[in-house]
Amino acid sequence: MRNKEMLLVPGPTPVMDEIYDALSSETLGHTDPRFAKVFKNSLELCKQMFNTDGEVFVIAGSGTLAMEMAIINTVASGEKLLVVSHGYFGDRFIPLAKVFGINVETLQAEWGQQISKELVEEKLAEGGFKAVTVTHVDTSTGVMANVGELIPVVKKAGALFILDGVCASAALEEDMQKTYGHPDYKIDVVLTGSQKAIGVPPGLGIVAFGPKALAAREAMTSVSGYYTDLKHWLPVMKDPVKYFATPPVNMIYAFNKGMELVIAEGLDSRYRRHFALGRAVRAGLKVYGMKPLATEKVAAPTLSCLLYPEGVNDVEFRSKLASKGVVVAGALAAFAGKAFRIGHMGNVTEEIIVKALGLIGETLQEMGYTANICAAIDEFKEIYHSA
Ligand code: PMP
Repeated sequence: MRNKEMLLVPGPTPVMDEIYDALSSETLGHTDPRFAKVFKNSLELCKQMFNTDGEVFVIAGSGTLAMEMAIINTVASGEKLLVVSHGYFGDRFIPLAKVFGINVETLQAEWGQQISKELVEEKLAEGGFKAVTVTHVDTSTGVMANVGELIPVVKKAGALFILDGVCASAALEEDMQKTYGHPDYKIDVVLTGSQKAIGVPPGLGIVAFGPKALAAREAMTSVSGYYTDLKHWLPVMKDPVKYFATPPVNMIYAFNKGMELVIAEGLDSRYRRHFALGRAVRAGLKVYGMKPLATEKVAAPTLSCLLYPEGVNDVEFRSKLASKGVVVAGALAAFAGKAFRIGHMGNVTEEIIVKALGLIGETLQEMGYTANICAAIDEFKEIYHSA
């Protein structure tokens, strides 16, 4: 990899050389049939990843734009939205929906815990919810939502199931035609960004709408957005020689390459690799006395939030580690200073993680803590290859 640093923040993630090469291809006109062919291919691969019989939308922006697009095209001002939140990014739907006059109700988990399906069921029994948002993996806590349990509960209540896959898509299954106990119990919307498990630089908002979500937009006379109104984008996504607003041509080249790599790896293998990586990284770091915020049962395959051993100074640890070429992120809110977050998703390799584990151990040693580097790496490798 051409990357000089080991970028292990929870997104952006390390970019493969092939993706950088695609990014620097010659910029063509955005309605040039040669570009349109690449755009179309990327959309088809993305549809394959979500296995949707609806439509995918890939537009310039970030994950937050994709969140906004998902909400405004399904829930109108005055309608009820339930936000199921496992942390900072789940919470983001609250102000976002309120701006559009949506009537927001919230279930917030204690950080590190999961919201139970019983709680969601009880809340939905109040009636009238148009949609429910669930964050597949909350990047603040490393908690993975119990999607398989929540879908039937949400769908039984007649609400749309909107999944934030920003920290999950391409690493965790998000199959939009998979049914959960009834032919109609499926994910209605998945939204994501380019910069995490898809492994492409930041810059794209991606939203997949299933048939029920597309019908919800159809039933709305207007929406509170212009750039984000999916009706403007629908003709472009069906036939990318059409124009609504200029697509980020080079980012689409990069996205197409990223999606080719995802599909070439095979979705099941990619999901298994991430599952193994998550377990193994946490096991390796536990050898250093670090404690994952989320229990293994609810911990994400894509990133982990780890509490430091007693006394470790967060800023010193992360800056020393960064000077060795490993970049990790601080923790948020009440865990700031007490924990750090490490991403292990996308096209990150076993080699990168092994190197990073060694350098984390070295950093701890330099700060005066005991860290058995060989034992941590052995633990990582054993779990990674057996999970
Ligand atoms: N949802 C989740 C789960 C995220 O992790 C993030 C970004 N960390 C977002 C939404 C927002 O995405 P962006 O920063 O690309 O706008």
